[in-house]
Amino acid sequence: MIEINTQNLDRAIAKARQTKPLVKVIEFRLYQVTNKITGATYTVKFSKVNNTKYAECNCKATKVCYHIGAAVGIHIVLAAQTVTA
Ligand SMILES: [Zn+2]
Repeated sequence: MIEINTQNLDRAIAKARQTKPLVKVIEFRLYQVTNKITGATYTVKFSKVNNTKYAECNCKATKVCYHIGAAVGIHIVLAAQTVTA
């Protein structure tokens, strides 16, 4: 699990915007991210412990990767809906 914050997420989101991977919701906090060019699919999971947010991806990257950057955009929207529902 990697701790996510505005700084490392900004970089990941910027890279996701260039790569434009396909994001599919598996369930709340669990996403499947597919690179449209290579077809490689990875699973991204978000969790929250106290007030610290974490993310994990099963790709080789050890930092916040663009898969997390791609999934977080959808996650923020869904998380906001869940809170207000
Ligand atoms: Zn990844």
